[in-house]
Amino acid sequence: MVNSVIKGFVRDLLDYLAPQRCIYCDQPSHRQERICEVCEDALILNDSACPRCALPDMGARLCPGCLERDPALKSVTAAFVYDAAIAYFIHRWKYLGEANLSLTAAKIFKNTGITFKNPDLVIATPLHWRRQLRRGFNQSEDLLQALCALYPELNDRTAADVKLKRKKVTKAQARASRRERLSNLRDAFAVTGDVRGCRVGIVDDVCTTGATGNAMATALLQAGASEVHLICLARTPSP
Ligand SMILES: [Zn+2]
Ligand SMILES: [Zn+2]
Repeated sequence: MVNSVIKGFVRDLLDYLAPQRCIYCDQPSHRQERICEVCEDALILNDSACPRCALPDMGARLCPGCLERDPALKSVTAAFVYDAAIAYFIHRWKYLGEANLSLTAAKIFKNTGITFKNPDLVIATPLHWRRQLRRGFNQSEDLLQALCALYPELNDRTAADVKLKRKKVTKAQARASRRERLSNLRDAFAVTGDVRGCRVGIVDDVCTTGATGNAMATALLQAGASEVHLICLARTPSP
């Protein structure tokens, strides 16, 4: 009782001194997240997706693409359907450089109740160093760090010597055609460190077609990983 009164007082004081405002409605969010509970509830959960590639609205059944070919990624988990609301969040986070949205991203991810499929190792989707220099941070790396702080079971699952490295700068995937994406991604990644026999989880912000994820998974499988899973904030619906 006393504890909750003190917590309430501290929260009100922080709200008064430095109100954390919701990026959508601009009202005080009354919590660490920069999204208020009402606006968070309006985000669309990706809860009837293809269990393999997380393609939204598949009634939890395999999508035609996954039935047709066996993707290198064993599974994709995406918390939300990529829509205008998530696009706005990602825009502020990545392109307007609001790096502190990484914590909010991790919190709204965890609030969906998603758990990790017991990976031996978790890594982040890399940015090419030139793009990272321009942006100032790698949002996937920040998201991974924030998730590690929220999921204690991930804490000892990062290995500093294991890295995926982008070998060449690829044209921004969002602006490339499917054919361009695939040719962009051929041999785009190199693995350093020992991943032999590991179940690897890759953390990313958005999964668009799965092409980047599958290119990373291919590189990791070639380096000896036993299986590769992708975990991301949002997945785009089929075009
Ligand atoms: Zn709001
Ligand atoms: Zn699928």
